[in-house]
Amino acid sequence: MRRIIRRKKSGYAAGLTLCLIGMLVMLVVLWNAWPNVSASPDIFSALKSYLWTGKLEFGFGISLKLIHLTIAGAATLFLGIFVLALSRQVFLVSSEGVLLHCPYCKNHWKGRRAKGFAECPYCRQFIQPTATLPK
Ligand SMILES: [Zn+2]
Repeated sequence: MRRIIRRKKSGYAAGLTLCLIGMLVMLVVLWNAWPNVSASPDIFSALKSYLWTGKLEFGFGISLKLIHLTIAGAATLFLGIFVLALSRQVFLVSSEGVLLHCPYCKNHWKGRRAKGFAECPYCRQFIQPTATLPK
């Protein structure tokens, strides 16, 4: 159980980090492009043409086209969102394995985390089941 929670947390952290890196990369690109396109009457087409021609110098002879950086940043951002969604799913799956107790017939069954009322599969009563985590 603890391992699932930890995995979910690390997945969450990884997803958040990827999102941040992606946003940071796109922010850097925009930061570089902005002085060159903000004066243009059509900012979006100016930004587009600037991204295709502009380069970002990293020193040591390394330079990347801004469009490549933008694509990489967007891909990283989407990957981060994907990882976040996935770790959220892991969290939901891990919360599914709860035991629900019926206060009438004292039966219990495995189910999703109790949300309000549920129908007891044994006595068909609408009950508010009490949930405990399986051992
Ligand atoms: Zn029952």
